[in-house]
Amino acid sequence: MVVSSAQYAYANDCSGVLTHISNVIKHNSYTCPGCREEMVAVKGKVNVHHFRHNNATCSYESYLHNAAKNAFYNRFNESKEPIALIMQRAITCQSKKKLFLQDDSISCTNLVEAKFNLRGLFNEASLELYDKSTGFTPDVMLFNTDNDSKCYIEIFVTHECTEEKIASGIPIIEISVNDENDIKYIQESDFSINDINIFLYNFSAKEKSVQECHQNCSLTSHKFETWTLSASGRLNKIEKSFNHLSENELSLNNCWPVTLDKRIQTESIINLVKEMDPRNIYSNCLKCTNASGWDDGQVSCAIKHSSVPYTEAKVCKYYEVVEV
Ligand SMILES: [Zn+2]
Ligand SMILES: [Zn+2]
Repeated sequence: MVVSSAQYAYANDCSGVLTHISNVIKHNSYTCPGCREEMVAVKGKVNVHHFRHNNATCSYESYLHNAAKNAFYNRFNESKEPIALIMQRAITCQSKKKLFLQDDSISCTNLVEAKFNLRGLFNEASLELYDKSTGFTPDVMLFNTDNDSKCYIEIFVTHECTEEKIASGIPIIEISVNDENDIKYIQESDFSINDINIFLYNFSAKEKSVQECHQNCSLTSHKFETWTLSASGRLNKIEKSFNHLSENELSLNNCWPVTLDKRIQTESIINLVKEMDPRNIYSNCLKCTNASGWDDGQVSCAIKHSSVPYTEAKVCKYYEVVEV
C-alpha cells in the first residue's frame, strides 16, 4: 500500500529515536523511519496531529517495519522497567495414585504462565546487526554478554520468519505489526504467547513436576472399581473416583480403573478370588476350569455355552476347580 499523503504518527528524531507526534520538540528535525526523508510535524487545530512528508512512493509497510523495530530497540535501551515475556510452562503431576491407573500413557499436565524479564535474560540490544554465526541479520538482536546467549526480535509486517531462520535454533520473538497501534503495543506491553501477534520460536520454559495438583487435575476424571470378598463368598464392587481413593486402600490386587483392559481385569479378579479364599471354601466360577472371561459379575461357561453369573458354581454339577 502506498500512502501518498502520508500521515504518520511516528518519526525518528536526529538521534534515531522513534518519536510520537505528541512528543515533538519545536525546531528539531525528524525523518521518516521508512524512507528516511525529512518529515514535518503538523499540529493544526483541525486535523489529527501527524508527521507529513512529500514522498508519494514511501511504503507504509516499510515505515511500520522500521518504526516497530526502533520502538523495540529504544524500549530495551532507554527504559529501566522490566520487559515481560510470558510463556507457558508444563506442570506434570506425579501423584502416587497414578500407578493405579496401570497405563503409562495417562498423565496429567497443566499449562501455567511463566513470566520472564527480557532485560534480565539479556543485557544488550543491537539493531540490524549481522550475526556471523548464522548469517542472518535480525531486526533486533538481544544478547547476554555473560553467557553468550542471544535472541532475535523479528518484526512481521509482510514477511514472516523464514524456516531457515527458525531452523537455526536461535530463540526468536516474532511480533506481527499491522498498524500504528502495534507500535504502541511494542513500546508498552508485556509480550505474551497468548497475544495473537506474538509467535515464539525455539523458546521453551522448563517443565516442572508436582506431587499432586490441587486443582484441574485431569486424573480425577478416572473411575476405579475396588473389590472385596464378603464373609459369604460374594464379591462386592465399589466404584470410586480417583479423588475418593485413599492411598492406604490402594492395592493393585483389588483396585483397578474401570477402563482397564478386560483381559487384565479377568486375571486380576481371578487372582483376587484365589488370594482371598486360599482354601477354596467358596464355590466361584472364576476358579472353574470351564469358565473364562469376566464381565462385571458374568463369566462365560464352556459347558453351558453361555454367560453365567459367577455364583452359578454353587449349583453347577460341572464345577471343577483349576488345580494350582
Ligand atoms: Zn517515508
Ligand atoms: Zn494432576
